[in-house]
Amino acid sequence: MSRIQPSTVAVAIVGAGASALITGKTLLNDGFDNLTLITRDSTPGGTWAGERVYPALRLNNVHGEYHFSSLPMPGVGASRLKGSQLTDYMESFAGQYLKGHIRFRTEVINVRRPNALETIIESEVGEGWIMTVRNLKDGSTEELKFDKIVLCTGGCSEPNIPTELQPPSSLQIPVIHSSKFWVNVENIVPSLQSTDGGSSPTVVLVGGGKSTQDIAAFLCKKGIRTKVVFETADSFISAPDWLPAFLRRSRLMSIMSPTIDLRSRLERFLHKTRIGSMIVQSYWESLQSNSFNLLKIPRDSPLRRTHSVFWSIRVNDESYATDSFFTLCTEGKIELIAPTRVIGYGHDGRSVLLKSGETIPADAVILGTGYGSSWERLFDKQTADDIGLNRTIPDSFEKWDYETLKNPPAARPKNEQWALSIYRGLVPAKSILRHDLAINGAVFSSNNGYTFEAAAHWISSYFLRDPFLKLPSSVEAAMAETARVAAFVQQRYPNMLLWTSDSYSANIVFFGWPQYVDQLLEDMSLPSVRSGGNWLTWAFSTVSVEELKTLKNERGSKRDTTHQSL
Ligand SMILES: Cc1cc2nc3c(=O)[nH]c(=O)nc-3n(C[C@H](O)[C@H](O)[C@H](O)COP(=O)(O)OP(=O)(O)OC[C@H]3O[C@@H](n4cnc5c(N)ncnc54)[C@H](O)[C@@H]3O)c2cc1C
Repeated sequence: MSRIQPSTVAVAIVGAGASALITGKTLLNDGFDNLTLITRDSTPGGTWAGERVYPALRLNNVHGEYHFSSLPMPGVGASRLKGSQLTDYMESFAGQYLKGHIRFRTEVINVRRPNALETIIESEVGEGWIMTVRNLKDGSTEELKFDKIVLCTGGCSEPNIPTELQPPSSLQIPVIHSSKFWVNVENIVPSLQSTDGGSSPTVVLVGGGKSTQDIAAFLCKKGIRTKVVFETADSFISAPDWLPAFLRRSRLMSIMSPTIDLRSRLERFLHKTRIGSMIVQSYWESLQSNSFNLLKIPRDSPLRRTHSVFWSIRVNDESYATDSFFTLCTEGKIELIAPTRVIGYGHDGRSVLLKSGETIPADAVILGTGYGSSWERLFDKQTADDIGLNRTIPDSFEKWDYETLKNPPAARPKNEQWALSIYRGLVPAKSILRHDLAINGAVFSSNNGYTFEAAAHWISSYFLRDPFLKLPSSVEAAMAETARVAAFVQQRYPNMLLWTSDSYSANIVFFGWPQYVDQLLEDMSLPSVRSGGNWLTWAFSTVSVEELKTLKNERGSKRDTTHQSL
């Protein structure tokens, strides 16, 4: 197979969030000079763009662990990183490595093959892509041609509003999706404070996730009455800031979480034996109950109605600040209405309607109803089907006989379940032989900096057709692997796909991100388990993104060696 000349290949990355920035840098370093990142935002960072980040936003990952190996994260200290630190980081990363390669205020409105009826499965040069973009400054549209594209449009960039909560024209109060709250906060708060001639206005927040919690705490501190309606709240882990790195930044948590392949004797012991399973169970149970106790959540509080820390991906890493959402709730300053759902709006046009039939008066409604897929608006249905970005019905019946996976929560009916067929969460299985489409940012991981960076190298090797990158030899083989992953995800996280969008669930690895990255490294024929340690200490060795710093050179040496031997 001929060697690709990367400088002759036009590559587009859709997005300029964290996953796009590291993918862009990695591709540029590998010689893909004809590279354009396209974003509808006016600054880099995506979720962390300055135009989006709000004052109360704190990173909910392990301390400081959201950066890339080439640029240290300044200000990593005892407490969690602030959203604004992420903004500064993303801006300096983009300024340092991607100057002149980002096209801002440009919305991608359609991506398609030049010939929609194209049936070639494998093509050496590829027929490329046509992308229609809209210039958001003047509204003009334009068609661009690229040889390869990487989708980095994120899992939290398209607000989702369920049909029943779409505001009817008769509604007299504002309804705001949580993602639009902070950009409009300077208008929203004064307009609420002037409501009703001085009596305290009421905001009803729908949903028990992180966004609603942050907004509720903010409004409450502004003297606005807040009522949060939810069925199940996000779960959280709260631990003192001074927890040592060998507990907080090691592989410990990932080993305690069963993964698709149990890669070590320790993991097999923990997940396949009765004693191991008891250790795992008590580990997660004590994490959950210690977290409740640390935040002094009363036994009968609806805040204990959370998703399970073990079985779910709705888990935040909380610090225990004295004026947090949780303390404001336990002090009675934020009212919780749970367990129930908002199913619409009241006939009076100024209230929300609960499942019970009760209505709650409101001066504004904030919807923390999550995010939809950012791929939907990019592709028409036919193109999505052709390239393999569509939902499938899970059709693998493989089961994992782990002790730790016994007694799962009840699964929703089969007809509500779905899956995607995206190999390694990076390339649609159907397109695996084409080498002209990849995705970064759609694997649900709790350490995105580390995961995005490893994935970026995998994608670059895939585009370069590096001979050392191990890939399935056929579409069918790629499909078989994605079906197996889908079956595992369904068993490991029953129902969790129903809580995320397609563009955030190409695979769910969550606490298992170290094992997932090990697999990507092994695909690239590179050493895995880079945190080191001996048979006794490896589980407690600190994992750091710096261990990925040499990947470009390691891949380069492999490439040279393979080509010399051909
Ligand atoms: C409020 C909030 C808090 C979060 N907190 C955490 C956290 O603490 N820890 C954590 O790990 N994750 C958190 N997340 C998830 C977060 O989205 C990911 O960590 C990560 O930032 C995703 O990066 P990304 O590059 O994949 O996507 P994004 O950051 O969402 O970037 C998407 C990019 O695609 C662009 N885009 C999308 N569609 C189009 C289009 N049609 N045309 C042009 N451009 C387009 C956007 O403009 C943007 O540049 C949070 C998300 C939200 C919303």
